Amino acid sequence: MADYLILFGPPGVGKGTQAEHLKTTLGLAHVATGDLFRDHLKRETELGNLAKSYMDRGALVPDDVTIGMVRERMKDPDTQNGMLLDGFPRTVAQAEALEKLLAERDQTIKHVLFINAPKDMLLERLGNRWTCKKCGAIYNANTKPPKNAGVCDVCGGVVYQRDDDKPEVQAKRINVYLEQTAPLIEYYQARGMMTMIDGRQSMDQVYADLMAAIEQAK
Ligand SMILES: [Zn+2]
Repeated sequence: MADYLILFGPPGVGKGTQAEHLKTTLGLAHVATGDLFRDHLKRETELGNLAKSYMDRGALVPDDVTIGMVRERMKDPDTQNGMLLDGFPRTVAQAEALEKLLAERDQTIKHVLFINAPKDMLLERLGNRWTCKKCGAIYNANTKPPKNAGVCDVCGGVVYQRDDDKPEVQAKRINVYLEQTAPLIEYYQARGMMTMIDGRQSMDQVYADLMAAIEQAK
């Protein structure tokens, strides 16, 4: 039986780094819907073109299109041990559709992991992010400033704050995420399928807690 894990976490919680670790250790395919979309759009598949027709109108891509992409992805050989679903499902409707999709294959979701941290901590991490204009190196005004203010350590380029990294924009992103996923968290919690991980801890400790939760779910 393959393992299907779902990983959630608000922007700034370090989910991406943890996902990289987990997929390597567990030998799972890392499936992020953002990547799926980009791939389908690039290859101009039927699903990609369908998704594009909605995106061009500024409309939300319907759940069955997204589910269709996950369904396609499940045919790839690297998913034989299972999948680490990253940022998917986004809604209860998607969660139900995913369960149906897995049930068709006699599979179930093994566990749901939610890395959480207080809003002000997330904002402190994201709202202080500065980027090198030239090489793209990332800095944090509080925790990892460049040695010389405004100058990149790597290439000497100008370090600036991107518009979408401005604190007010990041605060909005965090709020939207938390509002959108709240019903989903309730949904999984009510089913006893989810472990909440404390994202205030060090990266190593968060990883250890994730692994312990997965072990226990066996
Ligand atoms: Zn640079």
